[in-house]
Amino acid sequence: CGIVAYVGHREAAPLILKGLKRLEYRGYDSAGIALLNGALNVYKKKGKVKDLEETIAHETLQSTIGIGHTRWATHGEPNDRNAHPHYSASKNLAIIHNGIIENYSSIKKNLMKKGHEFHSDTDSEVFVHFVEDIQINAGCTLEEAVRLAMKEVVGAYAIVVMDATNPTQLIAARKGSPLVIGVGEGEFFFASDATPIIEYTHEMIYLNDYEIAVVRDGELTVKNIDNALQSPYIQTVELEL
Ligand code: GLU
Repeated sequence: CGIVAYVGHREAAPLILKGLKRLEYRGYDSAGIALLNGALNVYKKKGKVKDLEETIAHETLQSTIGIGHTRWATHGEPNDRNAHPHYSASKNLAIIHNGIIENYSSIKKNLMKKGHEFHSDTDSEVFVHFVEDIQINAGCTLEEAVRLAMKEVVGAYAIVVMDATNPTQLIAARKGSPLVIGVGEGEFFFASDATPIIEYTHEMIYLNDYEIAVVRDGELTVKNIDNALQSPYIQTVELEL
């Protein structure tokens, strides 16, 4: 139900956990975070953000990139394994997703025939396996694979994808669920609304439906689902917390 992601020069974990708390008013049943420190590390827990914090209190959380999520279960009961982030077969890609993938079961069946193993009952996990499958079969970039997946996926989503093989990159996309990008100095923030971002920057882009935002090496590009470059409108948001 809530998304917070960060790439830049700050410690991502405390920033994301604080941001998830700002989104608590939206309601949720579990929370999770994925970080890159050498490899992809995913931590998730049924319950409150506070419960997640207690679980990870003794972990090494150093990372300047990360994705976090509060879940309101639609597919699969609220438990640790159904909490987000979800990861791909190679464990290189991690995803957070708000919304519902309506045609997930047919995509899942096809992927299972190809040998994909799933670790949750969610519609969301299908998205990240599907993206990796496309990337491998088409031999394309992650950005292109996300775009091709969006052409097949039916439903509503705001997603952020992180790739362990590219620790300066985050890819976000939306259709039907809100996603805001905060533009800082050499840093970028992604969230379901402005509240987790406002204390760091007022410069924000509200992503439109069928747009894909790629942050890589401190540069942001926004394209539409037909791969046409967009000129995103950066607005100055004022907000009292
Ligand atoms: N449909 C997804 C799930 O059940 C995402 C729910 C949400 O938006 O939090 O895991």
